[in-house]
Amino acid sequence: MADSSIQPDPSFITGGIAKTPFTLQQPPAQCFDTRASRLRFLAQSSELAPYLDFLADLAALQARLAQELPAPHPISSERLQQASQAGLPPIDRAALADDSQLHACLRALCEAATHIAMPVPARQALDALRSAEADDVRWLLANVLSDVPGEAIPQDAIALHLFAAAVVQVHLARLATSLPAEALQPVATGVCPACGGLPVTSSVIGLRDIENVRYASCSCCATQWNEVRIKCLCCGSTKGISYRSAGTDDATVKAEVCKECGHWSKLLYQVRNPSLEPVADDVGSLGLDLLMRSETPYRRAGFNPYLLGY
Ligand SMILES: [Zn+2]
Ligand SMILES: [Zn+2]
Repeated sequence: MADSSIQPDPSFITGGIAKTPFTLQQPPAQCFDTRASRLRFLAQSSELAPYLDFLADLAALQARLAQELPAPHPISSERLQQASQAGLPPIDRAALADDSQLHACLRALCEAATHIAMPVPARQALDALRSAEADDVRWLLANVLSDVPGEAIPQDAIALHLFAAAVVQVHLARLATSLPAEALQPVATGVCPACGGLPVTSSVIGLRDIENVRYASCSCCATQWNEVRIKCLCCGSTKGISYRSAGTDDATVKAEVCKECGHWSKLLYQVRNPSLEPVADDVGSLGLDLLMRSETPYRRAGFNPYLLGY
């Protein structure tokens, strides 16, 4: 990862020996800005250009809201303590569906998004969302915040959930970056240590003196956490793992396939192309999803709200 603003925890260098930090976090506004730029770049040479441009505008709006909206109330010390003792992530995702700040954040995003050019289904969803009752908004947020959002979100309401997911990303990225470093401890393979969310993709990166380390990226809060290089992020198996790409063997985006549980997840080789971005390049490499669906029996693990319609 070439971005010098990524903040490894202070234990990164111990006595001159480089140590792999458990988590990496970027300031939320910067994270969304980087995503917006990458989406715009990908749109230049993609059949999905109108959709990628829309997502780029949405990411730019997320960056703005991350700076302008009132800061989320910090997680209480009681909750931090309880979570630590129980081996749970400090952010209680499910409880956020009723969070008044998150609801306010959604209203702010919906108003600001009216100025963005977007596909017709997204425009219709946005109009519906702007006049939605609080109970309906709560339902959308609860689906996005559930443990397996890909199964909770109905196919006929994907566009509505896209905006809810964008708001959850802003709010949770801000909450996650407000956590004390010691609150971020391993929870389980393939589970975000900050919010318990599923990974969107994982990336093989080079970090100063440490080459080829793997970090999974949270689909909810954008926290990146260290994972073993060859391991299924769905079931934790290190056996029966293989790799597949839509192009040549030196492709920078590959499917990590697990024979044990029948799932695959997307791996980005940022070490070869530092411009790759966990969410943007997931959408940009849709061809790999289509190939895996048409040519293999494996199901995709993880979650990306921007790929639900494909
Ligand atoms: Zn997370
Ligand atoms: Zn597996």
